[in-house]
Amino acid sequence: MITEIVPTDPTRPDPGAIARAADLLRAGRLVAFPTETVYGLGADALDPAAVRGIFEAKGRPGTNPVIVHVADPRQAGAVAAAWPEAAARLADRFWPGPLTLVVPRGPAVPDEVTAGGPTVAVRCPAHQVARELIRAAGRPVAAPSANRSTELSPTRAEHVLKSLGGRIDLILDGGPCPGGIESTVVDVTGPAVRLLRPGPVTVPMVEWVVGRVEVGPAAGGVARSPGQMAKHYSPRTPVVLAYSQEEADRLLDQFLNSGLLPLSLNFRGPALCGGVPESLKLGLDSSPEKAAADLYAWLHAFDDGKADRIVVEMPPDTPEWAAVRDRLTRSAAS
Ligand code: AMP
Ligand code: MG
Repeated sequence: MITEIVPTDPTRPDPGAIARAADLLRAGRLVAFPTETVYGLGADALDPAAVRGIFEAKGRPGTNPVIVHVADPRQAGAVAAAWPEAAARLADRFWPGPLTLVVPRGPAVPDEVTAGGPTVAVRCPAHQVARELIRAAGRPVAAPSANRSTELSPTRAEHVLKSLGGRIDLILDGGPCPGGIESTVVDVTGPAVRLLRPGPVTVPMVEWVVGRVEVGPAAGGVARSPGQMAKHYSPRTPVVLAYSQEEADRLLDQFLNSGLLPLSLNFRGPALCGGVPESLKLGLDSSPEKAAADLYAWLHAFDDGKADRIVVEMPPDTPEWAAVRDRLTRSAAS
């Protein structure tokens, strides 16, 4: 299969590009498209064969449910069996945007989407290309991140092409994703509102709207979240975490002394700093939003096969950095 790449303006989507991609979705084919978080790999969420195509292209285990994307809150009614009060309040405050709600599954949703489970994850993305594509397709669109399973998520069309080229029909290239990190996932099906995956919408932001939020899957509960698999979001180059600048420097020295080439990432500022010979120390922006926007692009760039290790100095353990810390921890798991 040849993967077609169709460029479009991110804020004023090209109608021809949207129509072409929507036709493919309606025909049960696979289309990658930009969202405000990362690029998604879309298929008609109500067509079981089309959704199976996503799993084949990604090499994703069938036990991992996928997020359904809707063009507006009204369309969530096509996939949800009920809309709990907490869902209504959170959607009202954060949609369109990077918040996924896990709600009771409606009868139209195939098993492939939910991994056979009784819940479905729904999100209304804010990116204009995503919204117009879903609207033009006229149906909800199942879309996990557009990468091979366990790999880094794509934040640029070229990342999608590198990972899934030849396996999918089309990539809508709307430029870099502004957010750069996957959506927050919140389960509203239980007695307590539960954060299943940290993301751009932080715990304090969710608590502001619905009060106390539990963090992590319920003990012995059914709510699984594939993004919570230990190894996920991983470059091929091993990632080593440091919890202070001193530890990062010590690790860099240690790798250099044993003949390994380390690259190093920190969150202390936008400047490129020298210091360690033959290695690159990169300081990402010290604001969590800006650092998240660039994080995967840098990890993709670092993962070009030249370096032996990626040393990451972790950002502070605060709610605003929780999503970045979560992805880094998983990227380092082996
Ligand atoms: P990704 O493949 O990166 O788009 O990740 C998909 C995400 O969907 C996972 O991390 C889960 O958190 C979430 N998800 C999808 N469906 C469900 C569900 N029914 N229950 C819990 N989490 C879900
Ligand atoms: Mg993913």
